[in-house]
Amino acid sequence: MTDTGRGTFMKEKKPDLKPNLNIKTNLKMRKKIVAGNWKMNMTFDEAETLLTEIADALDDFTLDNTEVILCPPALYLEMASDVAEEASFSVGAQNCYPADNGAFTGEISPVMLRSLQVDYCIIGHSERRKYFNESHEFLMQKADALLRHDIHPIFCCGEVLSEREANSHFDVVRKQLEESLFHLPVEEFKKVVIAYEPVWAIGTGVNATPGQAQEMHAYIRQQIVEKYDYETANNTTILYGGSCNAKNAAELFSQNDVDGGLIGGASLKSEEFLQIVSAL
Ligand code: PEP
Repeated sequence: MTDTGRGTFMKEKKPDLKPNLNIKTNLKMRKKIVAGNWKMNMTFDEAETLLTEIADALDDFTLDNTEVILCPPALYLEMASDVAEEASFSVGAQNCYPADNGAFTGEISPVMLRSLQVDYCIIGHSERRKYFNESHEFLMQKADALLRHDIHPIFCCGEVLSEREANSHFDVVRKQLEESLFHLPVEEFKKVVIAYEPVWAIGTGVNATPGQAQEMHAYIRQQIVEKYDYETANNTTILYGGSCNAKNAAELFSQNDVDGGLIGGASLKSEEFLQIVSAL
């Protein structure tokens, strides 16, 4: 792999085998991930059906160096972990509180998540930044708390529309990384998955173009080179999120620095979600 100088990290050209996931040539590369963020959707029965449909279908996939992660509402994490025991997906939470236990009514700790075999947790999602005023400092505490209990943070970053229009999107994302993640020692940072989610693309039906996604992903990777080192940057999985669907996933995922997707709305229907997994 080579650094092209503008922060673009060249991957070997992918063979044209989609949707067959048995692509052995990519074994040495960073892990590819498709994660479904169900947000506050689904009744218990609906969740059970969706989990089962995805679990059954994934039996027919060969997921070399590829991980599928489902992030249902916290109420369904136990059920998801039970289904995952016999299936090819991992379980992620959508949120946590950065303490092990205590008087934090309504909150859920990384210790509790770990006790349900939850391996990932989304932090920094724009909805939590916006509606729950989550600060860089608070997200830093969440990252630390998760890593203390061997849970991989899926750290979301991304600019709002006015920031892109003001051409400050790179600065915004750099600050998000610097203030919430870049305090981590390198061995801890290596456990983090990053999701670039331009806020203007989330739930709007307007996705970033593949070029816009690639440009920001390459920028993020370059920031990791500068803070840590080339190898760490090259091995960090950076997902794209924001109106990613079965129609646009393949083109987004074909970009050199796009290693998969964090999927919201399109993760709620098994058929569409599985088509997105196939697009990796
Ligand atoms: C998200 O909320 O993380 C997301 C990417 O949502 P959507 O795919 O619906 O835009």
